[in-house]
Amino acid sequence: MNLFKFDDMKKIQRPTLGNDVPLELFRSVRLIGMYQGLPMHGKSTTLVVGKKIGESLAVKSVEEALQLFKDLKIGIPRVIEKKDAEMHIAIEDCFCEGLPVHEGNMVCDLEGAILEGALSTIYKGRINVREVKCNVNGDQECEYKIKFF
Ligand SMILES: [Zn+2]
Repeated sequence: MNLFKFDDMKKIQRPTLGNDVPLELFRSVRLIGMYQGLPMHGKSTTLVVGKKIGESLAVKSVEEALQLFKDLKIGIPRVIEKKDAEMHIAIEDCFCEGLPVHEGNMVCDLEGAILEGALSTIYKGRINVREVKCNVNGDQECEYKIKFF
């Protein structure tokens, strides 16, 4: 039984500080806490955490999943290519944009795992979302490849 659902996360009653926390806090949790603080940049953890969050979103379609990615201000997804079993998407305004470049580092794996978790609730087969480009790596944009098996 899940103690918390995504809908519960929207129940916010903070009269003074409201609904938002600054991006630097999210980045700190993600990059200083998880990426830097966990073994192997938190690889297995981000996968579990991301998938759990994604599943809780209870989306009904791929479009809705991509829209939520934007609504949650993770970034603005744009479909680059769509073949039958593969989808290639770029993320505009990714949460990592503007961070210093550290070649060899791709830091948006949790966000890919959120997408994977979200899509897994509407697709019967196995799904894999792989981060293939990242601003932090020095790439032009963050990109994911989604594979449907
Ligand atoms: Zn990125």
